[in-house]
Amino acid sequence: MPAAQPVLVANLGFPRIGPRRQLKTALERFWSGRLEQASLLQTAADLRREGWARQAELGVDILPSNDFSLYDQVLDATLMVGAVPPRFAGARGLELYFAMARGARSGEQETGCCGQDAVACEMTKWFDTNYHYLAPEVAAGQTFDLASTKPVDEFLEARAQGRHTRPVLIGPVTWLKLAKAKDGSDPRDLLDALLPVYGEVLRRLAAAGADWVQMDEPALALDLDDTDRAAFACAYERLTEAAPGLKLMLTPYFAAVEDSLDLALSLPVAGLHLDLVRGPGDLDPTLAKARPDLVLSLGVVDGRNIWRADLTALLDRLEPVVTSGRRVLLAPSCSLLHAPIDLTAETRLDPEVASWLAFGVQKLEELALLARALNEGRASVADALAASDAALAARRASPKVRDLAVQARMAAVTPQMADRAAPVAERLALQAQVLNLPAYPTTTIGSFPQTQAVRRARADQARGRLEPGAYQAFLEDETRMAIRWQESAGLDVLVHGEFERNDMVQYFGEQLSGFAFTEHAWVQSYGSRCVRPPIIYGDVARPRPMTVDWWRYAQSLTVRPVKGMLTGPVTILQWSFVRDDIPRSETCRQIALAIRDEVADLEAAGAVIIQIDEAALREGLPLRRAAQAEHLAWTVDCFRLSAAVAGPATQVHTHMCYSEFNEIIGAIGQMDADVISIETARSQMELLEAFADYRYPAQIGPGLYDIHSPRVPSVGEMADLLRLAGQRLSADQLWVNPDCGLKTRGWAEVKPAVAAMVEAARRLRAEMSLDVARKPAGE
Ligand code: GLN
Ligand code: ZN
Repeated sequence: MPAAQPVLVANLGFPRIGPRRQLKTALERFWSGRLEQASLLQTAADLRREGWARQAELGVDILPSNDFSLYDQVLDATLMVGAVPPRFAGARGLELYFAMARGARSGEQETGCCGQDAVACEMTKWFDTNYHYLAPEVAAGQTFDLASTKPVDEFLEARAQGRHTRPVLIGPVTWLKLAKAKDGSDPRDLLDALLPVYGEVLRRLAAAGADWVQMDEPALALDLDDTDRAAFACAYERLTEAAPGLKLMLTPYFAAVEDSLDLALSLPVAGLHLDLVRGPGDLDPTLAKARPDLVLSLGVVDGRNIWRADLTALLDRLEPVVTSGRRVLLAPSCSLLHAPIDLTAETRLDPEVASWLAFGVQKLEELALLARALNEGRASVADALAASDAALAARRASPKVRDLAVQARMAAVTPQMADRAAPVAERLALQAQVLNLPAYPTTTIGSFPQTQAVRRARADQARGRLEPGAYQAFLEDETRMAIRWQESAGLDVLVHGEFERNDMVQYFGEQLSGFAFTEHAWVQSYGSRCVRPPIIYGDVARPRPMTVDWWRYAQSLTVRPVKGMLTGPVTILQWSFVRDDIPRSETCRQIALAIRDEVADLEAAGAVIIQIDEAALREGLPLRRAAQAEHLAWTVDCFRLSAAVAGPATQVHTHMCYSEFNEIIGAIGQMDADVISIETARSQMELLEAFADYRYPAQIGPGLYDIHSPRVPSVGEMADLLRLAGQRLSADQLWVNPDCGLKTRGWAEVKPAVAAMVEAARRLRAEMSLDVARKPAGE
């Protein structure tokens, strides 16, 4: 039976970087002064026009506008409500915009606003994605005003092209929940002050001709307290009153709404979107309880992964919903910002693997197909449905996804395999004998500058302009120079420098089976930065050692220990597109076994220290607290499985980038590493409190200086930080290192910074021996 009211396709947001990353190119040329502002804005307008045209062509009925952003949609919302931190006073327009995004330095042409240095707004992860937004900064009692009409301008821009769009706004409650107040006040107290600005935007949109507005409220799918619930109730009451004719599509995503469903259904909005990929269980209770006139936007196609949807299964689920008379829209689960744009751009993917995939464009095609099947019957799209079913069946049956040897190994994993052979105190004592390091041992996190020369050599080799032998010799030279320099700088534990690695995940993925790589499947990470995550399509195995030769070469050049350097299983998983046909935990365990083999081989080759980076351990944490413990259990277990093959005298290091360690300190303890290095420089060692309170039993290298800044820190300030760290932890627990890898810096910054860091360690050692000398005997 056809639907009573036609089912329409709504898109929640389209990737804005452009199919050839035009936005990135234009931004970077603009920032370096090689592109006029007018040309940048023209590129942006072209991308919007092409995006709308493309989506319309693909059969999208409801096109989003204001989903475009020059840098970040949260920053756009912050500027819309006029929440400009005082340090940017005086700047306007794009100068202000990019100063907030990237910081401003006095005297610098490009961002020379404000007449002084102004640090950028804090950048942090957008929920559990790898997209980063700029956190709004607020203070108690602050006021808001409508400072940018971007949503209205872009609505009118689309209309001038004959396109009626549904503008997208970050909802006021989510905006406040993302905001940070340095004065310790609760940003939610500002709701009353904020709502009139939102009301004004809605009124102006209505006046411009908008009939619906998409209010993105991903915060609705978080754990909410009473204040949050009251904020949602108040906000949507008031906004509905502010623009009575306008319909609001309340749009949570990234998780099930679950226990907040009653709240969502009680709000006076005209429509509710559900992320049915993350929260399939939300549908039935919604159908049972929703007002009959509530329009439902069903997010049935995964906006965050790259697999084809099971269209037949979806139709089985959707047909009864639409025949019940409910007005339904079909949508991706979330904005397609998180998906690569177009599969047809890939020319080198294995065609069999490619036939299982759907990128942004293909996902919209799937939605259009589903809508047509619901409106006109399955017969109207029989061929396309059959093709989709066949692709799914082929994927399920393909020998490429299955590796019997891996499955046999997985079945043979025992809990004991994740346990080191001795407890941490015993191990550290054994390691101290082997390593014989001074107090405050110095080291770095792994990578050294990826200079122009290094990148050019890699590109030349990839294009066949540099012979493999010559490339190898080049990398050996770089590694040799790095080892020589580290020795002369007085570092105690050396690294080989990672010159052979393009990226800490891709380097391993390319050597593991079960991974595929794309040419153009870029996804925005922040601003102009894009990443191209590998695709894990099959069982993962390690055919041969991946890092042993480079480690062996580096170690042959020095008597000081060189760390074996690996990326951990959780990080490889988190920074890839992951299979949806087996649980994530299972793929992670397969990767853990592969890394475990590498640990064993490094140890057999003679490595006495092996570092397993877990930069992304915190990142995949589920948004709902109830699901976090289980997630942490399997991620920690995978790390342990990869590490525990090391004998007790082999020192296992791990490294984690900036994280809210407080919430996960228990899990970090359970990782049972011998040494962890963490990012703490920007927070003045505050993060160490978590380790101190927890009584972290192993050793810690609190990052002594911020590698994200070109600034060279002084000996004095690093020595001070070490003393500060010494107040929270015992001196014999502490290592001395920068807060992350140095690949994005130049040697001109790295050399003086590391020299100063080594000097700071020497000062602390000297103070320590003075202390010992001063202590009366017997104490
Ligand atoms: N070992 C890696 C490096 O030094 C770690 C990078 C990271 O933590 N993101 O580059
Ligand atoms: Zn790091």
